[in-house]
Amino acid sequence: MDKIQKKGDRLIVPDRVTIPYIEGDGVGAEITQASQRIVNKAIRQVYDGKREIGWKEVLAGEKAFRSTGNWLPEETMEAFRTYLVGIKGPLTTPVGGGIRSLNVALRQTLDLYVCLRPVQWFKGIATPIKEPSKVDMHIFRENTEDIYAGIEWQQGTPEAEKFLRFLTEEMGVTKIRFPHTSSFGVKPVSIEGTERLVRAAIRYAVARKLPSVTLVHKGNIMKFTEGGFKQWGYALAEREFGEQTFPWPRYEKIKKEQGEAAAKQALAEAEQAGKIIIKDVIADAFLQNTILKPEEYSVIATLNLNGDYISDQLAALVGGIGIAPGANINYQTGHAIFEATHGTAPDIAGKNIVNPCSLLLSSVLLLEYIGWAEAGERITAAMKQAFSNGEATSDLARFMENGNSLGTSQFTDRIISLI
Ligand code: NAD
Repeated sequence: MDKIQKKGDRLIVPDRVTIPYIEGDGVGAEITQASQRIVNKAIRQVYDGKREIGWKEVLAGEKAFRSTGNWLPEETMEAFRTYLVGIKGPLTTPVGGGIRSLNVALRQTLDLYVCLRPVQWFKGIATPIKEPSKVDMHIFRENTEDIYAGIEWQQGTPEAEKFLRFLTEEMGVTKIRFPHTSSFGVKPVSIEGTERLVRAAIRYAVARKLPSVTLVHKGNIMKFTEGGFKQWGYALAEREFGEQTFPWPRYEKIKKEQGEAAAKQALAEAEQAGKIIIKDVIADAFLQNTILKPEEYSVIATLNLNGDYISDQLAALVGGIGIAPGANINYQTGHAIFEATHGTAPDIAGKNIVNPCSLLLSSVLLLEYIGWAEAGERITAAMKQAFSNGEATSDLARFMENGNSLGTSQFTDRIISLI
């Protein structure tokens, strides 16, 4: 077994590749076992023994704490650093420990600046919207900045008072409604942080020939942070992808200089030529539009907090978190951790009823990321077939017209036989 390496823009993936995995707490063991069995089968089927994944277990969460006394041992971090690409089940957030969240620690240490969440509907899955087949979105959520940077001070502390004095005495701020009972948080949004996220989103759209990239923001209210995100995103699209894209400010410029008809003509020509339309929308309008007219959106590039809300809303549109995949990626270093997006589901752990599809679809993303997409496509095709027959775990099957609830291991066997 060998390591993946990053050379320039490319990942070099050996045919026998080691992938470290964290099993995860709660339902983690069940979904990890299910996903690995299915992935191994798809790889054998497609590559006929020429390719293989060597799964290497690394510890984190409760399992790590029990055997090492440490929630996130250094060897685990080292394995992800060394092998570049890994996968993880859900982890319990330790209560009262020194570590706020294991997921955040992993993301920060490896600087995994993109949280990728593709959102796709499978025929047969119950949904709250009328035309779910129109939902096909790919969320690029910025993962390292914004109000999530963790810079905040609790009200009533000397730090909050000191920060208040700085704001009022040195910065002349007068707009804080209840200054002495306020907690404070800081929202850093940078040009580099925005550009690397938007660049990754546009490259993804180019590689998959997708129609548009939408910058989702609240720049109408937060002009310099979220407004900056929009402005820097558009500037990057024009500067680095001017030939392949049609950024909306170009439309506005033509409209101003030559009139609306000319702008519409230029837009139609760009669409005809297969250029990716780069547009923007205010986050609240976007959340409405995803329900009313989801067909207008393809790749979404957004800031950290917006991305958090958007990911869950879009997951709900296509069947809930049991089936939503995710990945945290640094496209510059190649580091990537694919993950189940739901939690440890302690209420159903060990009962053979958990839905393994979130981790399974994340494994499909992993296969695509390392260039083994054909194996991933086999898995997706088998899932489509199972769902259209009404075969699924009970969380999904109970809402299907022809639903047939299968246990986790029966569902896994069924997918394997369909592959
Ligand atoms: P949860 O996602 O674990 O569970 C919410 C509900 O959804 C539960 O009723 C659960 O049974 C159900 N559910 C979740 N995944 C399912 C699946 N695959 N199939 C069927 N049903 C499923 O969220 P929670 O209860 O808020 O969190 C439990 C623990 O997980 C906490 O310690 C939390 O910190 C942690 N957590 C971890 C991650 C992560 O590691 N990425 C994410 C969220 C929560």
